[in-house]
Amino acid sequence: MTIKAGIVGYGNLGKGVQKAIAQNPDFELVAVFTRRQPEQLASGDGVRFEHISAAEQYKGKIDVMILCGGSATDLPEQTPAIAKMFNTVDSFDTHAKIPEFFESVDAAAKQGGNLSVISTGWDPGLFSLNRLLAESILPQGTGYTFWGKGVSQGHSDAIRRVPGVKAGVQYTVPVEAAIERIRSGETPDFTTREKHLRVCYVVAEEGADQEEIRKAIVTMPNYFADYDTEVHFITEEQLKEEHQGMPHGGFVIRSGETGAGSKQIIEFGLKLDSNPEFTASVLVAYARAAYRLSKEGQSGAKTVFDIPYGLLSPKSPEELRRDLL
Ligand code: NDP
Repeated sequence: MTIKAGIVGYGNLGKGVQKAIAQNPDFELVAVFTRRQPEQLASGDGVRFEHISAAEQYKGKIDVMILCGGSATDLPEQTPAIAKMFNTVDSFDTHAKIPEFFESVDAAAKQGGNLSVISTGWDPGLFSLNRLLAESILPQGTGYTFWGKGVSQGHSDAIRRVPGVKAGVQYTVPVEAAIERIRSGETPDFTTREKHLRVCYVVAEEGADQEEIRKAIVTMPNYFADYDTEVHFITEEQLKEEHQGMPHGGFVIRSGETGAGSKQIIEFGLKLDSNPEFTASVLVAYARAAYRLSKEGQSGAKTVFDIPYGLLSPKSPEELRRDLL
């Protein structure tokens, strides 16, 4: 029996979920829901597009909705609204607002008798799981998270707002020397500047003063002022050819001690060619778990901390014990 899935929101992540579902034979994509005119999105590959207002008509026909809206304004509205009607999974990533988001989704999901897994993906998501695992195993130690090398959408948007900038992209790059210090068993207190470097590739408007642009970027409060920031000016062609991908990744590392000073290091890393395609693959695995927990009669909001790993796999517990233990 296949798990009938719907996608809500057809941006980078929504398109990634469509591809991920194609790689998981126990899933079937029933429809994609959008706030735009659905006929504008139809691509002729047999996928059904619907306006989001039609979602209610799919009650009973969709086992789990995979929510792919943006974290800033879409998901705080969409997840509770959809959780009243369907099981859901999302990748809400505004870390500071996760507790209040959880409460609002929990109430909505319980009202509808549905199960919602919130804030999956890789950070929050797989990185959170690894922070928890490492901290539980090495209570005496220090944990670190590094991001990159990867494109940060928020910082790329910020440089595009600088006067004289036509286009641009920003990469967050972990400082290799800092990671090496932790790997060698040190537990340093890093400043923001010591952990990550910000590298910007900028296309300037014709006649714009490049030095002015550089200064405006590197001194920008909250975004760049606390970091060492490189600004490279490139042509529009170079931007198109060399900076169209959405790579990302990073490391969660915990350095701790046990016994009389035995050094123990736990490290988890990701190196991603496509952030949205990878995040989408995580969403689909958690959609499987959401469906199964709901079948067991559970409802309300859950985070990755509440989901047993075995439920992520299409394999049976017997197969998992045989193949992967
Ligand atoms: P996008 O901006 O591509 O899409 C967000 C929404 O915008 C879509 O659902 C879509 O809604 C709408 N949209 C997309 N393209 C267009 C367009 N051309 N014109 C008009 N509207 C459009 O965001 P992403 O898919 O890249 O990311 C979604 C969220 O995923 C991010 O906000 C981020 O918070 C989260 N994320 C989480 C990660 C994690 O590890 N937890 C990792 C990566 C991302 P509609 O179809 O209804 O118009």
